[in-house]
Amino acid sequence: MDEHFLLLYPKNPAWAPASLAPLLDALKAIGFLGAERGAALYSAGADYLGLVTYLGCSPQIALGDNEAATTIRVAGIFETPQFVQGANLKPPRCPRCRKPLKKPVVSLAASDELQCSHCGHAACACAFDWRHSACCARVRIEISNVFESEAVPGETLAACLEQASGEVWDYCYVRRG
Ligand SMILES: [Zn+2]
Repeated sequence: MDEHFLLLYPKNPAWAPASLAPLLDALKAIGFLGAERGAALYSAGADYLGLVTYLGCSPQIALGDNEAATTIRVAGIFETPQFVQGANLKPPRCPRCRKPLKKPVVSLAASDELQCSHCGHAACACAFDWRHSACCARVRIEISNVFESEAVPGETLAACLEQASGEVWDYCYVRRG
């Protein structure tokens, strides 16, 4: 069965914290992270629904500690940026001319170079705009049970991430089969 995730990640692929502790503490303090289920794996916290904005009119959200409920995993710190993509990967836009490229047929690594077929601009995969369908980062937060475009991080959560890290964060959706 496919699994659907909302991923949060710092926009700067090269950035990583010295330790995850300040980030985890800040996310616990606002009620985003709940009970710890395992290594860096948490249940959704008490204020989760005030921090993640669900866009549908009647989303099915299972919270709490049971097995099927939404979990939040903090992945990292990785030595180098990790390019994360799923079955829902979209054709990226060129960072220079903004035109769409063909969708890559193979799984990409962060250091793989892509060349724009319109303007010739060449850059690593991380530099392209994947339109919220992939990310490139040394640390990321994975929220399970979120379908593509079903929910976005709210302002309070975005501000908390920015304050705890000194970095602007972005989000994407990944579907894993
Ligand atoms: Zn281009």
